Amino acid sequence: MKQHRLIKPVKNYTAIDKFILKADKELSGFFKVSIEKPNINFISSRKEINRIWGMKTEKWFKAWLKNGNIYILDPEIYAKESNYRTKHFWQILKHEYSHLYYKKLTGINYPKWLNEGLACYFARQIRKKPSQEDSIKVFDYFRKSDWQIYDVGYFWVKLLIDVYGKNKIFKLLCLLNQNLNERKFGLIFNRVYEAKFTKNDLHCLYHLNNSKRH
Ligand SMILES: [Zn+2]
Repeated sequence: MKQHRLIKPVKNYTAIDKFILKADKELSGFFKVSIEKPNINFISSRKEINRIWGMKTEKWFKAWLKNGNIYILDPEIYAKESNYRTKHFWQILKHEYSHLYYKKLTGINYPKWLNEGLACYFARQIRKKPSQEDSIKVFDYFRKSDWQIYDVGYFWVKLLIDVYGKNKIFKLLCLLNQNLNERKFGLIFNRVYEAKFTKNDLHCLYHLNNSKRH
């Protein structure tokens, strides 16, 4: 297997290498596939991100995937600031790794809420709980995304794992493929969870989670 290559030498190479080994072990244990080691391209500033994208990018936008490779703000930039930021760097790196596994297992990168939710879950990027009304926005996030997708995706993924376990969500992922559309996803969801992927059933699930927690 190809070793991951760090574009631009960084001081804490060993720490990154160690971290990736551990992340790889956890993610391959869940997704039950292995991935080609990506190149990790470190971006030195917001200015450089803007230059690559040819536009002014939002502050929260710190990493992305292109052709199976990771682009991420240089950890030195995070390290220069606070501890919180350094922790954030590791979370983002693991988040992007999770996307690579999702793509390898399913062949696609949607439903977006599921992909983002799993990435936040594995990266332990704990998000605030959406209101019941906001949680239903999950239906908007099949192919599109916006800043709220992380809260909504994390909430549903965590709930499905807490209530039904990791095996079920893995089973759901195994049934996804390139022909997936929203209707087919509904059928697959129903088959795995014996609940309909509808507003009504999700409302019930939303409360089920509440009663389990309190
Ligand atoms: Zn993501």
